[in-house]
Amino acid sequence: MLFKLHPDTPKFQVFVLLNQELIYFLNKSIKQKTFGKGLFSRKLVGRACWSNVKSSPEKNNLTRDKFQKLFENLKSETEATREQLHRIVVDNQDLSSFFLTPNPALLDFLHPNTFEAFKVLAAHLYGATKDLQPIIDAGGGVNIHRHFEAFRLGTLNGNICKACGMGQLAPFRANIGVENQWRADYDHQLCKSKYPLFAVHPDNLIPLCDVCNQDAKKAKNLFVAEDTSLRYSFYPFSEEANSYVSLTIENLRDPSPIVKVEWNTREGRLVNKLDTWDDVYEIKNRAEGHFSNIEQIIENEIDPTEFDDFQQQVQRRTRSISERTLKSKPWAYWYHKFFCELDSIHEDDKVAFWERSRFFHKIAEEGAFYILNQTNSPS
Ligand SMILES: [Zn+2]
Repeated sequence: MLFKLHPDTPKFQVFVLLNQELIYFLNKSIKQKTFGKGLFSRKLVGRACWSNVKSSPEKNNLTRDKFQKLFENLKSETEATREQLHRIVVDNQDLSSFFLTPNPALLDFLHPNTFEAFKVLAAHLYGATKDLQPIIDAGGGVNIHRHFEAFRLGTLNGNICKACGMGQLAPFRANIGVENQWRADYDHQLCKSKYPLFAVHPDNLIPLCDVCNQDAKKAKNLFVAEDTSLRYSFYPFSEEANSYVSLTIENLRDPSPIVKVEWNTREGRLVNKLDTWDDVYEIKNRAEGHFSNIEQIIENEIDPTEFDDFQQQVQRRTRSISERTLKSKPWAYWYHKFFCELDSIHEDDKVAFWERSRFFHKIAEEGAFYILNQTNSPS
């Protein structure tokens, strides 16, 4: 994460309850001989899971069937294995310690069929069961839309993605009620296909922008690199990357200067986490790509009229930015870094850059004028 989550971020109660129900079920499955009601709690959530079957009127049905499938697979395992599964799930509820000593092979002792059934149930709890009305009622009436609106409040996390600081979580539309606002997808930090035990763990689900969640991260494993080596990852509630990022501008005198993003630390574990963050969300490629046309960025952001104006405006943009701006303006963190770096560059280089870029600017304007005249001239 570029920025950690606000400490008062509300937990989504529906996930808290579903997670508890899952643990209850795994515990009851150790001894119980046949699939039945006794595997579910007598609370609203337990009853809702039990009575959610194929013939249920809701479209998100089949919750009971998914539990049953897992139960049948667990029955073909030994009692010791079922006990082990329950114990592991209970012992790993504190995600901050899991991030400290990650174990990606946590469920490798399960038979592949059992693991598959667990995965299917986990995906269903997240994708369908969470939207059942009795479960939302049990969670204080807060469905995922309401939770999302609470999450992105300006006084808490704001509407900018915490992982990248580049994109909005979701556009906010006037004249539209909470239930119908667009919302960001909730990213499973520990993806549900590899860690089904955390599929509805309330601390494992974080709204991210579409680019982070759908384009960059997908099902990448936070703790296993592409070469299968173990790696570490920032814990989103307490760790953040923003003070370890350095942005430099290389070859400012060249026709195409480039922006480079690097880390300003050599501390082993920290670098490992920063590299994971970069690999998972493609931070460097996205930032360097965004700044690939420096002249255009400068024109869009400050559009200077002469060298003094250029210098003054660049300097103005080095003022520290408020938290409110960071939480509401896409790319605010990155632009601040960029202008600080530009401001710190040697005066001679700045003058050379200015002269060259003004020259190109003029050519571009003449080009545009030419095109306009072409389109306006009668054929
Ligand atoms: Zn993002």
